[in-house]
Amino acid sequence: MVTPMYEPFQQQPPNLVNQYADDRVLRSFLHRVLPAAVLAQVAPELMTMGDRAGGELYRLQLADRRNEPTLTQWNAWGERVDEIELSPLWRRAAHLAAEYGLVALPYEQTYGPTSRLIQFALAYLFHPSTDVYTCPLAMSDGAARTLLRAGDPALIERALPRLTSRDPARCWTSGQWMTELSGGSDVGRSETIARPAPDGSWRLYGRKWFSSATTGQIALARPDGGAPGARGLTLFYVELRDADGRLQGIQVNRLKDKLGTRKVPTAELHLEGAPARLVGALAGGVRAIVPMLQVTRIWNSVMAAATMRRGIALARDYARRRIAFDVPLSRQPLHVETLAALQTEFEGAFHLSFLVAGLLGADEVGTADEQQTRLLRVLPSVAKLTTGRQVVEVLSEVIEAFGGAGYVEDTGLPALLRDAHVLPIWEGTTNVLALDTLRALAQPGTWEAIIGLAAHTSAGIADPELAAAGRQACAALAHARRWFDTAGARPQIERGARRLALTIGRSLELALLIAHAAWSLAQERDGRARIAAVRFARSPIDLIADDDHDDLALADDQPLPVG
Ligand SMILES: Cc1cc2nc3c(=O)[nH]c(=O)nc-3n(C[C@H](O)[C@H](O)[C@H](O)COP(=O)(O)OP(=O)(O)OC[C@H]3O[C@@H](n4cnc5c(N)ncnc54)[C@H](O)[C@@H]3O)c2cc1C
Repeated sequence: MVTPMYEPFQQQPPNLVNQYADDRVLRSFLHRVLPAAVLAQVAPELMTMGDRAGGELYRLQLADRRNEPTLTQWNAWGERVDEIELSPLWRRAAHLAAEYGLVALPYEQTYGPTSRLIQFALAYLFHPSTDVYTCPLAMSDGAARTLLRAGDPALIERALPRLTSRDPARCWTSGQWMTELSGGSDVGRSETIARPAPDGSWRLYGRKWFSSATTGQIALARPDGGAPGARGLTLFYVELRDADGRLQGIQVNRLKDKLGTRKVPTAELHLEGAPARLVGALAGGVRAIVPMLQVTRIWNSVMAAATMRRGIALARDYARRRIAFDVPLSRQPLHVETLAALQTEFEGAFHLSFLVAGLLGADEVGTADEQQTRLLRVLPSVAKLTTGRQVVEVLSEVIEAFGGAGYVEDTGLPALLRDAHVLPIWEGTTNVLALDTLRALAQPGTWEAIIGLAAHTSAGIADPELAAAGRQACAALAHARRWFDTAGARPQIERGARRLALTIGRSLELALLIAHAAWSLAQERDGRARIAAVRFARSPIDLIADDDHDDLALADDQPLPVG
């Protein structure tokens, strides 16, 4: 036997433990907001999900890295079949999602208004280990709420028990087909045509440019039913396959070759007379689809927080294992500062997204007061756009925190950043949601609800630094409101919409961090949430710009004569 001349260095990879047990922020939040009896009842489920997320599913995710969905358009005998096969991780995820009731929970209402918080806590643990299986879950949840709101008893009876089933064999998922080649943000440009059939149903003809749940059983589509633009849009319910499993008047042209979300079978579809049923009123599509967008935007925000948390958990563990200049990275002051900054952003995003989840829960059981109802109109967009920007920045830093290893595919790390990058795009881009926020702010009482929330959550705080941070959050919101009231007409107000919406999002994150920090200091005798709040207060909160510049000169590189 040859004795090695030297002991080669072996770097240990980052490791995950039980993701519920390890998550101080989630545990502390649930401790604060859930009745003790409810928490005791759901803790075992959260614990097993945390165990799977850091164990079985995480290992499967790493092993599944190269597997992607495949589309078979023709069978051996020349028949058009358009079959999509999912990766092993997604098949396992589908099974577990049904069993844990990740869509079912809020419809079962076992835990009253807190059902939503429990659902989202489980989904938050599940999401980062299942390569965005939460995409079909979010849309299925949105479809269930949309159908309930539309109130068609036959459709509810047919689809709801399937969408909310805990039996993996019975459970359906739903997609949403809005985006067309002509427009995703501007769906008023949709070209799909709906034609009435003699039996009272409808047939859809057109091309859908992004369909992320093509393996689902139903879809809600928003084709053009008459008048031009968004006014003429109508919402339809489509079952993709007949009793023999054949696609009905639908062809899958191809799967998209995407930057990330590689496990999500996003497809381009041709509708060639797909049978459809009307949901709600003719030409009332924009109003009818609102519940879907509200739900999917909240899922998006919670999943942004979950993605940040996963990246930080891996980076934190790695920092303990990686030595640089004779010291673990976890003891290098500048690396520690970098990780603390990421944790701060994550904690802000966590509290904002779960606040909105709680508002949805209160609305569903009818306990939401007037202020909460107004907040639910505006905050899904604000939370989605704020957390969508945060997650991309945080995950970019997470990759760097691993040095070269973060850039190497078989660590599994690059996929985190790629998957994060979809979160600001789908379900409304940052700009489109900022414009949506402008519309919500024009409704009476919206500003009062937002400012009231910040004032209430940061009131009566004894700790001087937290109290000062609370005043800062309220001052930023007051500034935002002044700007909104005086910005004048479009396009001036549109130009500042993103800064306005982000100021609201970050101010509320700060206020919520303060409220939680005060509770944690008093109840848990723990100072970590306080540090997060104080740190967050030092980050950019008030982004309102009162000055005016000629944007076109830069954006379009147009000449700008001076003098
Ligand atoms: C992985 C993935 C999966 C998807 N899955 C689905 C799905 O299942 N179903 C579905 O319907 N769609 C889906 N989409 C589509 C997605 O929702 C759209 O891509 C998104 O809404 C943007 O629309 P668009 O691509 O047409 O971009 P555009 O609308 O052309 O936007 C381009 C840019 O212009 C900006 N912009 C647009 N309008 C304005 C304005 N008025 N003011 C300022 N800026 C503006 C946008 O912010 C964006 O930066 C998916 C997308 C991706 C990436």
